[in-house]
Amino acid sequence: MSTFEDIPVDVGVIYEGERIRWPDAYTELGGPKVEHKFELVKVRSAEEVEDGKITIIGPDIKDLEKKSYPFGIYIEVAGKDLEEGLEGVIERRIHEYCNYIEGVMHLNQRYDIWLRISRRSFEKGLRSFMFIGKVLQRLFKSELPIIEKIRITFVTDPENVKEKFKEAMETYERRDAKARGLKDEEVDAFYGCTLCQSFAPTHVCVITPQRYSNCGAISWFDGRAAARVDPKGPIFRIDKGECVDPFKGEYTGVNEAVRTKSGGEITRVWLYTAFEHPHTSCGCFEAVAFYIPEVDGFGIVHRGFPGTAPNGLSFSILADSTAGGRQVDGFHGISIEYMRSPKFLQTDGGWSRIVWLPETIKERIKDFVPTELIDKIPTEKEVTNIEELKAFLEKENHPVVERWKIVPLEVGAERPVAEERIEASVMASMPITASTVPIADGSRVGVFRIVLKNVKIHAKKVRIRSKEK
Ligand code: SF4
Repeated sequence: MSTFEDIPVDVGVIYEGERIRWPDAYTELGGPKVEHKFELVKVRSAEEVEDGKITIIGPDIKDLEKKSYPFGIYIEVAGKDLEEGLEGVIERRIHEYCNYIEGVMHLNQRYDIWLRISRRSFEKGLRSFMFIGKVLQRLFKSELPIIEKIRITFVTDPENVKEKFKEAMETYERRDAKARGLKDEEVDAFYGCTLCQSFAPTHVCVITPQRYSNCGAISWFDGRAAARVDPKGPIFRIDKGECVDPFKGEYTGVNEAVRTKSGGEITRVWLYTAFEHPHTSCGCFEAVAFYIPEVDGFGIVHRGFPGTAPNGLSFSILADSTAGGRQVDGFHGISIEYMRSPKFLQTDGGWSRIVWLPETIKERIKDFVPTELIDKIPTEKEVTNIEELKAFLEKENHPVVERWKIVPLEVGAERPVAEERIEASVMASMPITASTVPIADGSRVGVFRIVLKNVKIHAKKVRIRSKEK
C-alpha cells in the first residue's frame, strides 16, 4: 500500500501553494474572523506519547458548516534526540505538510493560523480530521526521523480552543524571550530558512539573535537546533564572514548564503533597514513596516488588523506590495518579535521613525518602545488619515518632525483618494529588480500593468493621471 492510499484525496508537494477561495470552500478553521486559533508542538517523554493516536475535541469536519471556527492543532512528539528547542521548528512544518493535502489550505503560523477545506475534497471524502492527522503523522515521521512517537489532537470546541490558546501563547512568549539579550555580535553564525520558497522562490530568511524570522516562529536558538539535527534541511547555518557594516547589518557570509539560496537573484542584504538592500519578504510575515512619504516615517500594520492604515491601505494591499521574496524599498515584512529588538530598523532611525501602529500591537510591544516615544506614536484610535497623522505628530513633537525641516513635506490633502492610493501602490513596488507591478486602487485591480526588468527607480513622488476622462 502506498503511504497515502487510505486517504481519500491526493497528497503531494504539487498541492503546496493551492489557494482555496471562499466560494470553493467547504469550511474555514481559524482565520481573521475568529479570535482563538493556534498550532502548538510539545516535546514529551516517550511514556507520555501514545504513538499514532489522533483525538478530535469538538465537531469533526463532517459536522461543520460553511463558516469560520475557532481551531487548534496540538501535537505531542517524543524521541531520544528531541529537545524543547526543536518545538518551534517542528511546529513550522505543520504549514508545509497541511498544504501537501489536496484541498487543504494552511496559511500563517502560531496564533494566526487560517485553514480552509475545499468543497471538492470534502465531496471526495475528506470528512474527518482523522485523515489530516494520519497524513501529518506519516509526513512528520518520514521527513523528521528523530520523531519516534507522535500524537495529534484537533480542537474545534470553542472553550477547549480558548483554554489551549492560553497555553500556546505562554509557550510562544517563553520561546521568544529566550533569545532576548543575546547580541548579533556575540555569535559566530546566523541561520537561514528557505521553507517559504514554495510561495516566494527568492526568499531567504536570515535569522539572527536580534532579527527574528519574518513569520515570528523561528528564533536563532530554534535555527541552531534545527540545523544541528538536519543540516541538509531547509534551515541551515550561515557563517557570518566579515562584517562589512555593523550599523546596516551587512555580512559577507550572509550575502554569499543568500546569493546561493536565492538562485543568484538576491546578492546583497542589509539586515537592519527597509531601504536599498532590505531583507527579503516572503508572505508569512506577521506585520509590514511601510514607508509613509508624506511624513517621512514608517507605519506598521499586522495581519490581524481589520481596518486601513492612515494612507488608506489595508494589510492585504500592503502585504501584496511587500511579499513574493522581493526586496522592496520602504516595504518590509517583519515579525512582532523583531520590533522588540534593539536593532529594529536601526539604520532607518528605529522607533524614532515609527509614526503609526495598530492599538493591539502597541499594547503587545509597549514595554520595548522607548518611554519618551510611546505617547508620540498614534494608533487607529487617534489618527485615521494622513492629515490627522501629520497634525498629531506635530502636536506631540514626534522626532520625525525634525526631519521635515531638512526636507519640507508636501501633504496631498487636495488629491482624490483613488489617486493617492495608486501613488502609494506604485511607491510600494517600484525599486525591484525583475518583476511585474500590478497597480491597483482597490476598486480597479488590473487597470494598468508596468513590467520592470533589471531596473531600479527612485522617485520622491510619482503621480499617475488618466489622459481621458
Ligand atoms: S518566514 Fe522565514 S523562518 Fe519563517 S518559515 Fe518562512 S522562510 Fe522560514
